[in-house]
Amino acid sequence: MTQEIEKPSLSVDCPTCKTSIQWTTQFPDRPFCSVRCKNNDFIDWANEEQRIAGSSSYADIFSEGDLNDH
Ligand SMILES: [Zn+2]
Repeated sequence: MTQEIEKPSLSVDCPTCKTSIQWTTQFPDRPFCSVRCKNNDFIDWANEEQRIAGSSSYADIFSEGDLNDH
């Protein structure tokens, strides 16, 4: 009987919930621990994009206040 030597699997942390998972076929959504975390990360990223796009209005208010000061 030959004993199969298993390669030590790489462990990674889920970017969403920081759960440690193994880099194996057991986790098809790696580096995420689950589909849920995969989707959560995408939603966070989309929100971040919107926040950056909407920040230009803040700059407009700022410059207006500067003009009134003079
Ligand atoms: Zn997770």
